[in-house]
Amino acid sequence: MSTSVTSKVGDSRKILTELPGPKSRALHERRKAVVSSGLTQGFPVYIERGDGAILLDVDGNQLLDLGSGIAVTSIGHAVSDLIDAVSEQVAAFTHTCFMVTPYEAYIEVCEALAELTPGTHEKTSALFNSGSEAVENAVKIARLATGRAAIVVLDHAYHGRTNLTLALTAKNMPYKDRFGPFAPEIYRVPTSYPFRDGLSGPEAARRAIDEIESQVGAHNVAAVLVEPIQGEGGFIVPALGFLPALAEWSKANGALFIADEIQSGFCRTGDWFAVDHEGVIPDLVTTAKGLAGGMPLAAVTGRAEIMNAVHEGGLGGTYGGNPVAAVAALATIKTMRDKNLAARARELGSTMLSALTELQRDTLIIGDVRGRGAMVAIELIEPGTTNPNAAAANAIVNYCRSQGVVAISAGTYGNVVRLLPPLVITDAQLSDGLSVLADAVRSVK
Ligand SMILES: *Cc1c(COP(=O)(O)O)cnc(C)c1O
Repeated sequence: MSTSVTSKVGDSRKILTELPGPKSRALHERRKAVVSSGLTQGFPVYIERGDGAILLDVDGNQLLDLGSGIAVTSIGHAVSDLIDAVSEQVAAFTHTCFMVTPYEAYIEVCEALAELTPGTHEKTSALFNSGSEAVENAVKIARLATGRAAIVVLDHAYHGRTNLTLALTAKNMPYKDRFGPFAPEIYRVPTSYPFRDGLSGPEAARRAIDEIESQVGAHNVAAVLVEPIQGEGGFIVPALGFLPALAEWSKANGALFIADEIQSGFCRTGDWFAVDHEGVIPDLVTTAKGLAGGMPLAAVTGRAEIMNAVHEGGLGGTYGGNPVAAVAALATIKTMRDKNLAARARELGSTMLSALTELQRDTLIIGDVRGRGAMVAIELIEPGTTNPNAAAANAIVNYCRSQGVVAISAGTYGNVVRLLPPLVITDAQLSDGLSVLADAVRSVK
């Protein structure tokens, strides 16, 4: 089937109006009357169409996307295989509810997840709509399977915005403030943050484990839940050895090790999953974001004996594993394989890291350059200190936006600028984006 969507989007950044342009500004005014002001305003250019790494806005500006809608459109915008798969599925049927009358695409997604997630053991999956929902279900499953209550999470963690996942998330503003009370039996321990703690991976793991043992009690722990590279918390890459030590401790103490790969998974870090880098095999893995090319889909995948410990009917939801989202995931995974996007992520990562490391030498405000694959960030500091410099991060993001480059910030202290380009970004597009970012950094006084 050939798609009726013929792209009118160019392949490079082109700015025709001031940003946001007049049509975007008018939409933004309209929004104010009917959209809750509780949602982040972000970069209010209203998007009409996308292609690869370029977004076309309602004023005809072509923007360079270095955020992928927060690591979602890793295969790029308007991928013809995904358009075809979704269009055919919409024409066939859009919903039955998998728990009422099932369909094959759900099984195929679970087969792919069993094959791609780390480890060769038997695995089963359950599909959901959002990352938060997947994390909630991973916690439910871990508690049921172990008969224990305590969930251990890390400083700087982000696991979602529902009530349970807010309890798991670390940062107060804007996520948690005044939204409590939060769920009990969640324990937070120090993470590995090499730029700020200077500890080796095993040392940081020892510090975390000491707290678990003394403050929670090993025998109470249902699961240790970690982001293998922390996303919203500031692209914090733990020192080597930290994750394997926590996974080994979990195994030795009858606790499950859960990897939240919602942001770091699906080729983003140069492997299918970020834990692959150190050969860590989690008991449960949560996925979402990059999994379905922009359609809402999430999953919990894990050891069959754990996943299947749940009684029939204990897991589910009306839309989870919706057929349109499921075929989108299959097209996304096929695209990742066909184009070897894991390898492309590694190439993009080495280009970004070397450009940013060079930039760091020219300025006093970049304290750290870090990341793996196409999940890379700079942490901004006040010159001569390690004090967080959120004002610099904001100024850099705003400068990029003024030039039509979609960049996003992150970090517990709001002082990180993160790069998550679509993995299909071309070399020319990436170098354009990096040169705007360099100008942005140099423009900060
Ligand atoms: C985005 C994210 C979530 C939450 O996913 P939603 O789809 O926004 O609910 C959970 N964990 C991590 C690591 C994330 O990056």
